[in-house]
Amino acid sequence: MAGEPQSDCLFCKILAGDIPATVVRKTERTLAFRDIHPQAPTHILVIPHVHYPNAAALAAAEPAIAAELLTEAGAVAKDEGLDDYRLIFNTGAKAGQTIFHAHVHVLGGKPLREGMV
Ligand code: 5GP
Ligand code: ZN
Repeated sequence: MAGEPQSDCLFCKILAGDIPATVVRKTERTLAFRDIHPQAPTHILVIPHVHYPNAAALAAAEPAIAAELLTEAGAVAKDEGLDDYRLIFNTGAKAGQTIFHAHVHVLGGKPLREGMV
């Protein structure tokens, strides 16, 4: 069924507690944890409990949960004391997506390079 956990998905394993992660926030529908290879002083991933391959697929199937990813991303930034931060949704391997479970990157804590890439 759409949204069900996938046995070959790293983020589903983190949600199940099978792989440890440094969790910073949790709701009934989302989980936020520190990226294992931080690209900035704050680098946190916010994911939905449901499994969809990317943010657009999540938004199409579960718009309320997609919206909650954004509110949680904002809450993460506030918890980290960030006024300035960047949200990134990589979609597709050629755009740098490596984990095919919807997630948003919250990056901040240093001046971020201007521009799109
Ligand atoms: P993507 O490249 O798919 O947009 O982002 C996946 C992110 O997951 C990468 O930034 C990568 O560092 C992070 N990541 C990969 N494996 C793990 C892990 O086992 N634990 C955590 N916390 N992050 C991971
Ligand atoms: Zn998954």
